[in-house]
Amino acid sequence: MPRKKKFSPSAILDTNGPLYQSNLLDNADDWRLFCDSLHKGAAPLHWNCELGKAGGRQAIVPVFLPFRGCPVRCVFCAQDVQTGITESNPLQGAVDQAAPQDCNGIATVLQEARQNLRHRHNAGQPPAELAFYGGTFTALPEKELSACLDMAQEALEQGWISSFRCSTRPDRVEAATLLRLRSAGCGVVELGVQSFDDRALAASRRGYTGATALAACAAVRAVGLKLGVQLLPGMPGHTPQHFAQDVPMALAAGAQMLRFYPCLVLEGTGLASLWREGTYSPWPLEATRDALAQGWLAAMRAGVPVIRMGLAPEQGLAEAILAGPVDGELGGRVKGRALLLAVREALQAPDIRQKFLPECGFGLRLPRAMQGFFWGAGGELRPAWKAMGLRGLAFERACEPQLLLGTP
Ligand code: SF4
Repeated sequence: MPRKKKFSPSAILDTNGPLYQSNLLDNADDWRLFCDSLHKGAAPLHWNCELGKAGGRQAIVPVFLPFRGCPVRCVFCAQDVQTGITESNPLQGAVDQAAPQDCNGIATVLQEARQNLRHRHNAGQPPAELAFYGGTFTALPEKELSACLDMAQEALEQGWISSFRCSTRPDRVEAATLLRLRSAGCGVVELGVQSFDDRALAASRRGYTGATALAACAAVRAVGLKLGVQLLPGMPGHTPQHFAQDVPMALAAGAQMLRFYPCLVLEGTGLASLWREGTYSPWPLEATRDALAQGWLAAMRAGVPVIRMGLAPEQGLAEAILAGPVDGELGGRVKGRALLLAVREALQAPDIRQKFLPECGFGLRLPRAMQGFFWGAGGELRPAWKAMGLRGLAFERACEPQLLLGTP
């Protein structure tokens, strides 16, 4: 039987000493003694573990309408590969702006969605949320918009869905259309704002200004619809400083959910040409993770969930990516960095600084839900935690995130 090592309280003064972690069997006792030594000062770490959980449980059944209703094809956008819609899709004609709008294509896509929803319902699954993605929903030709709303209404009446959502451009948002959506059962409108910065919007040739985007946010809220804001950190002309302002602006504009889509260079887009000729460079991966971590933290503190970070891994997407900050574990990595930021800021708060003895380090008591992202992928955040002074760590089934401090 291995001999139990003795814990000396003076060990906590050794900043090169071990990390005491309560859920590691060989130093659970050490963790308790470590806490006894430090637990003279505990401060809540303002971190909302529940955020986004309730809304994330309902299944979303997407109906992809790539480029449908779009007035232009934006320089970074490849909705066909982003949505996994390939050339065999009946909506392919819509990708070519010169092609006539084919309502039969919409009918086929809607019929598939109808069958999918009916099947789910017959299998006893709870009502889903229908989502019209991939184009400019509020600028669809009238026939197509009516066909979509009729289908959504049927799905509502049959109990297949509880509501639907759509995505659109900020410069195609009119009060009358929004009211029509709301009365048809729409719950959420997601605006592809991308940025509120005029220079970045101009450099990306979005065709509207930050003021237009703010007005669109207000219009969505004014008719009683939930507002989602999509941001595109790293698009042409966009800097991390812009993104650091975009998130608070979206929150101030009333966003109730956010999506962060770091800009990638996708084959077949205008951005691919700019990248090839050397006039566009994507953000480096690490700078993107750091910027997203700050944005995620700001959103979490405002009680607003970030419901997506990075493009969904649709079929054909990986092959279409030419350059850009791709990270298959982006969400967890961003949350890990956001937690580091939150603790660093907490340690610098005036009331905590008075109590904190850097030579003793600090401890953290966290809910188990945070264990998955705490150390980062492959333990990449260990050196940063150590350098900050982390000496003790406990993941517990149910607890409020807390800082444990040594006090004079
Ligand atoms: S970014 Fe939006 S508006 Fe622009 S082409 Fe893509 S779906 Fe259409």
